[in-house]
Amino acid sequence: MLRTHTCGELQLSSREKEVTLCGWVQKSRDLGGMTFIDMRDRYGITQLVFNMETNAGLYNKARKIGREFVICATGIVKERSNKNLNIPTGEIEIEVKELKVLNPSDVPPFTIEEKTDGGEELRMKYRYLDLRRNPVKKNIILRYEMAREVRKYLDKKDFIEIETPVLIKSTPEGARDFVVPSRLKAGEFYALPQSPQTFKQLLMISGFDKYFQLVKCFRDEDYRADRQPEFTQIDCEMSFVERDDILKTFEGLAKHLFKKIRDFDYTGAFPRLSYSEAIEKYGTDKPDTRFGMLIQDITELAKGKGFKLFDSVEYIGGICVKGGAGYSRKELDTLTAFVRKPQIGATGLVYVKLNSDAVKSSVDKFFTREELDKWAANMKGENGDLLLVLAGERKKTLYALSKLRLEMGKQLDLMDKNTFTPLWVVDFPLLEWDDESQKYHAKHHPFTSAIKDDFHLFKTDPGKIRANAYDLVINGVEIGGGSIRIHDKQEQAEMFRLLGFSHEEAEKQFGFLMNAFRYGAPPHGGIAFGFDRWVTLFGGSNSIRDYIAFPKNTAGRDVMIDTPSALSDEQLGELSLKVVNK
Ligand code: ASP
Repeated sequence: MLRTHTCGELQLSSREKEVTLCGWVQKSRDLGGMTFIDMRDRYGITQLVFNMETNAGLYNKARKIGREFVICATGIVKERSNKNLNIPTGEIEIEVKELKVLNPSDVPPFTIEEKTDGGEELRMKYRYLDLRRNPVKKNIILRYEMAREVRKYLDKKDFIEIETPVLIKSTPEGARDFVVPSRLKAGEFYALPQSPQTFKQLLMISGFDKYFQLVKCFRDEDYRADRQPEFTQIDCEMSFVERDDILKTFEGLAKHLFKKIRDFDYTGAFPRLSYSEAIEKYGTDKPDTRFGMLIQDITELAKGKGFKLFDSVEYIGGICVKGGAGYSRKELDTLTAFVRKPQIGATGLVYVKLNSDAVKSSVDKFFTREELDKWAANMKGENGDLLLVLAGERKKTLYALSKLRLEMGKQLDLMDKNTFTPLWVVDFPLLEWDDESQKYHAKHHPFTSAIKDDFHLFKTDPGKIRANAYDLVINGVEIGGGSIRIHDKQEQAEMFRLLGFSHEEAEKQFGFLMNAFRYGAPPHGGIAFGFDRWVTLFGGSNSIRDYIAFPKNTAGRDVMIDTPSALSDEQLGELSLKVVNK
């Protein structure tokens, strides 16, 4: 190599050694007669020093070197008189004897330091420069380390990584497919995988029995703050297993990552919560259990007491904010505005402040002190607490309460980034009724099996069937999900029928899988984890873009390579495509 050492490793122990380093100029300072250059590479920063008295020629050369020039310097390691104990190389500097400019650099569009003056858009446009910055680089390294630990753990458990194709046919994971036109077959298209679901099931039929893959998946969904059209899954499948085998194996993976990446020992088994319990207590199937503040149903206590707004509703529920009785009128108004936001959807907010001498509430006129005391008892409210109550249609109100709960968690600082509370959510509904299409949809995907005890409901009440499916949730983030699959041809056909597929449609789209089920398909199940999300959670940021080397922006655009972009008429012609309404 051109260098003998990296910029992150030299210490006092190498004093008086001759070394050669390569890297980029982060900063240079000229103190009249002495020039210092901070030279950066992937590993750290080392200070170079040039002295006019000892080598005027070199000193003059060094003074002309600008930020981000890539250079190669040979010199002697010296003890610094002015030490910087904040960095590992801060006790030494290199007295340079020879300096080569490997390549000059234009002035970078933003400062490439811990804190930069560049805005998001500019940094994305020059992402390769942004990646030179320590905080961004650290994230990419964390991502690699996590991938390595995932592979290590699964390898030890006898999983093998198998690649599955990227040009495939549509997979029904509930989003739209990205499609790729076929040039050789005019009017025909490949789809990019939303997940390798059907392939991993076929691999089980092939006998590979423990498969995994760190794999790119593609979903053409509407823009949302932190969604990427392409993302990475840790995709896994196992044969001859039941639900508990899967949960145990992947709880092991999660614990391994907790330990290796966050140095956190999780002891005991992860708690399990049924879907219905999660909705009832947290208003969501991805509960953040770092704090309590559970939702309490007070419909029975609050309905039919002459308060019009409550009397006509399906559900009344609330949360108890510990020590919140001191909330001011203004703060409560802000909370009311919060729950009324269209994306939260509540019509109003009722509060009750619990004080030893008086209970103060927005509905004092309609409820007696005794009645409000009953609410408090139900919600485990004590002196000094604040009750926040919402009412309306059950599902919508629970949703709004879930958001209000999180908002209060945030306001009261109950969501520590360095605390991790994993749990499994189990017993999801198998099907979801969609009013618009007047059809059932698979809540997870159509290959998920039902819990055996619920088989009798197929004929009578399919909406009540529970799926043999599970999600791993950590700190309110859905980190992964999977299920025990259907492996019986008849059962799969019945599932497609329930989902409104005609026999012909099912054959056309999934004939290959149903056919494979005829050749000794083993019982199997699996799970897939959102790798980007998991890294983000462990990295402690809120944005998955921080952990992807070349991410798309919130509008799905890569501003660096400027895509999506138009094709030439010639390319369109070759693909037998025509753009209408350009
Ligand atoms: N393929 C599923 C998904 O992408 C995960 C699974 O069932 O294993 O969500």
